[in-house]
Amino acid sequence: MAENAKNYFEGAAPADEGMLYNGVLCRPIIDKCQGCDRVRSFQEKEYCTSYPVPAGKWSLGRCNFATHAKKEVKAQAKVNPLKASKRASKGK
Ligand code: SF4
Repeated sequence: MAENAKNYFEGAAPADEGMLYNGVLCRPIIDKCQGCDRVRSFQEKEYCTSYPVPAGKWSLGRCNFATHAKKEVKAQAKVNPLKASKRASKGK
């Protein structure tokens, strides 16, 4: 975790299920956030510096701001449609 982690959420206050920071209720990170560079600590819990509700960010798939989980890029062979057509006509 970064050295400046202690003071990142300066002025934040603990709330029922997280912390109140700049008037926004922030929830702690979820397991999938472990290892992300945007995680900072506040009173023994960890929060995201980009999103107040990390669980919501992951609910539709990979978080697009995650620094630790890279997007899967599917390698796809390029197919020349002209050659593919010729191959098909020859029965190959
Ligand atoms: S940026 Fe995404 S993965 Fe990283 S801590 Fe925030 S919600 Fe979690």
